[in-house]
Amino acid sequence: PYDILVVGGGPAGASAAIYSARKGIRTGIVAERFGGQILDTLTIENFISVKETEGPKLAQALEEHVQEYNIDVMKLQRATRLEKKDLVEVELENGAVLKSKAVIISTGARWRNVNVPGEQEFKNKGVAYCPHCDGPLFAGKDVAVIGGGNSGIEAAIDLAGIVNHVTVLEFGSELRADEVLQNRLRSLPNVTVYTNAQTTEITGTDKVNGLTYVDRESGEEKHIELAGVFVQIGLVPNTEWLAGTLERNQIGEIIVDKRGATTIPGVFAAGDCTDSAFNQIIISMGSGATAALGAFDYLIRN
Ligand code: FAD
Repeated sequence: PYDILVVGGGPAGASAAIYSARKGIRTGIVAERFGGQILDTLTIENFISVKETEGPKLAQALEEHVQEYNIDVMKLQRATRLEKKDLVEVELENGAVLKSKAVIISTGARWRNVNVPGEQEFKNKGVAYCPHCDGPLFAGKDVAVIGGGNSGIEAAIDLAGIVNHVTVLEFGSELRADEVLQNRLRSLPNVTVYTNAQTTEITGTDKVNGLTYVDRESGEEKHIELAGVFVQIGLVPNTEWLAGTLERNQIGEIIVDKRGATTIPGVFAAGDCTDSAFNQIIISMGSGATAALGAFDYLIRN
């Protein structure tokens, strides 16, 4: 069996695997897509000490760093079941069962898509999901935010300080964000909010040039000219496969303590699949390190 088995090969998993292997213990890492969300990212400018890089380049660097150590790397493998017996067992889609004294789950998350024409086509060409990451690319331009929940309104407030104008489109009849956020939003001069607005298409040629929506009250179709569209309708943790095992919160994020421990002894978690307050590369790497040190501490006590 492994001493530590990491499930997930994004920034959190790579960091957890390296921290584990550096303790001289038997370490494995299973990943469906080694690199994770950063494979879908163009420019990264907030990975501190690296002024600018690109997602695929950073993913390559993660993998090379992991390969420097004696770590069993199992790529293109999806975990489908976890069970705590004497050891922790992780079953893969191909039927194999891996056993380990401790497991670190770092299966990340995925942005919920609006699923309208143009969204896939213009991903990274005006369609964006992360205001912290891509906001500055739209400095002085007009953008829209789809989604009137907390993340949408936080994004709109954030973007309003950078871009020329922000249009918020909420499908429902009212915004769902906390009142303080809504008040802050209303105090901003360069934000327009449309409720009952159903986005039907993101338009463009080689990059985004606008968005079409239907006013659900009047049934009228409208078009706005824009340089960017931020989709903010939720980040879904990749934790469905853990249903009925460890404790997750209402939105499916794994609840961890400050050492990365979950409610199952010997099972730790890190990165975007957990209930961490923010989801960023630098944060997920830090939590991967925390979970590995937490797991090592668990191993030497058990
Ligand atoms: P992920 O990166 O999601 O990795 C999860 C890993 O688990 C993957 O290897 C996946 O294949 C694997 N996996 C999932 N389910 C299973 C399973 N059942 N079995 C086996 N493996 C599984 N952050 C920044 O700091 N700066 C940026 O500029 C930035 N830009 C971004 C742009 C985009 C378009 C996106 C989508 C995100 C961006 N982020 C950015 C956020 C950042 O990418 C994430 O916070 C970070 O990747 C989270 O790392 P993670 O390891 O927790 O999860």
